[in-house]
Amino acid sequence: MDYKKLFIDGKWVNSSSDTFIEVTNPADNSFIAHVPSANINDLNFAISSADKAFATWSGLSLTDRLDYLDSLLHELTKFSQELTSVIVKELGCPVSFSYESQVISSIDEFSSLLDFAKKIDFEKRYDGYTLRREPFGIVACICPWNYPLYQLVLKVIPALICGNTVILKPASITPMSAFYFAEAVRLANLPKGVFNLITGSGSLIGKRMAEHEKIDMVSFTGSTAVGKDIIIHSASTVKKVSLELGGKSPCLVLENADYSLAVDTVLDSCFLNSGQTCSAFTRMYVPISSKEKILDLIRDRIDKYVSGNPLDPNFKLGSMSSLEQSKIVRSYVNSALSEGAKMITCKSNDFSLSDTFINPCVLFDVSDDMEIAKAEIFGPVLSVITYDDLEYAIKKCNDSPYGLSSCIFGDETEALSIAKKLKAGNVHINASPFITGAPFGGYKQSGLGREGGELGILEFTEVKAIFH
Ligand code: NAD
Repeated sequence: MDYKKLFIDGKWVNSSSDTFIEVTNPADNSFIAHVPSANINDLNFAISSADKAFATWSGLSLTDRLDYLDSLLHELTKFSQELTSVIVKELGCPVSFSYESQVISSIDEFSSLLDFAKKIDFEKRYDGYTLRREPFGIVACICPWNYPLYQLVLKVIPALICGNTVILKPASITPMSAFYFAEAVRLANLPKGVFNLITGSGSLIGKRMAEHEKIDMVSFTGSTAVGKDIIIHSASTVKKVSLELGGKSPCLVLENADYSLAVDTVLDSCFLNSGQTCSAFTRMYVPISSKEKILDLIRDRIDKYVSGNPLDPNFKLGSMSSLEQSKIVRSYVNSALSEGAKMITCKSNDFSLSDTFINPCVLFDVSDDMEIAKAEIFGPVLSVITYDDLEYAIKKCNDSPYGLSSCIFGDETEALSIAKKLKAGNVHINASPFITGAPFGGYKQSGLGREGGELGILEFTEVKAIFH
């Protein structure tokens, strides 16, 4: 793979910028590749190519587009081993996690989106009018670093299904899987210009994508801060914006809950991908009377999650995605400790293993006003907060600018009635798993719009009513 090129107009081309971004392995700081730091000329080239391709691609029947995308899925699947290996290197995550949760889940998601697309009525007759779902035009897909392949699949595939053409900008620290995706596009013979890959700085290329009058929609996943910037920069063209942003998802444990199930589920969620998962349950509200019982269950289990060499199958967690990220996490934990929180961590009793390796930790005696209980830490850190009044705990669950996911453990009837009060896009009761095809996305500052399944596909369509 020649990582020094961009994929525009159906071929690998040199960037006109002549400057490159160095991609390194956060686990050992070794060099992986140089990728282009594209400039505005490169972006303009991608826009003109996507623009030219739009009429043909949107003019194809849905069946023809799905045939192309089936071939793309087939080509991408052939790269499963390469994708597993590059994601381990660029993200520092364990191999088995990379294979199952990054690559295979992305391929399954891709396949499920194609299945959902077959069942959608893009044109439907109502009394006195026909409702059509039409593509927007050019969609810019801007992705984060934590699930680099999965995030791009959730955007690029629905956009293409609906007849849009696409320009993808992956995160600069994890751009490698996007190159395999682009190569799969080439091998699947998608018409030129339908999909374009630009690597480069978010503040230059991403910002310009949001502003550009020729880009009709921005689908963004990343931090809430950058999401707000995208709203501001896209305002002058009033383009469609869909945003999947940050989270600080609560877990509410009721008195009558199965505490072992609650602890297992929350630790698995909070420490997944070294805590770098937007929907992770990071605040655990427990009844004050059961605090010690629950902390003992956590002490019994935490050693399962020790961090270490991503290539060693004994470790469930690898390194953090970057030195910068691990410094941010350390600083949040150290401030919480200085404010009086206490910590449970792995048997090494050392949460801060080395520069980019952090062992998971659970902080207790945390109060709601501490920063650790409010901010999205994006590291393997759980805050346990006690309550003695359930209504107050429900209020606290909702007392956050975020509203992405949540979970409740306890009697199902009671949990269902509480679920209706939670301001979150997803509520999981008693460890019920996420089902592919269900909508994913957040209330409040966790985003705008939904991804996945039928609703996630329809996000990429404009609605037209023709009266006749
Ligand atoms: P980020 O916001 O720093 O970057 C995301 C992308 O935006 C990158 O490609 C970056 O280059 C680009 N970008 C940066 N500045 C930009 C600008 N001014 N204009 C346009 N684009 C710009 O996020 P990150 O650090 O890569 O990812 C972590 C964040 O993503 C966390 O907050 C996490 O919660 C969130 N996330 C949310 C979901 C979800 O589905 N809700 C999923 C994964 C990650």
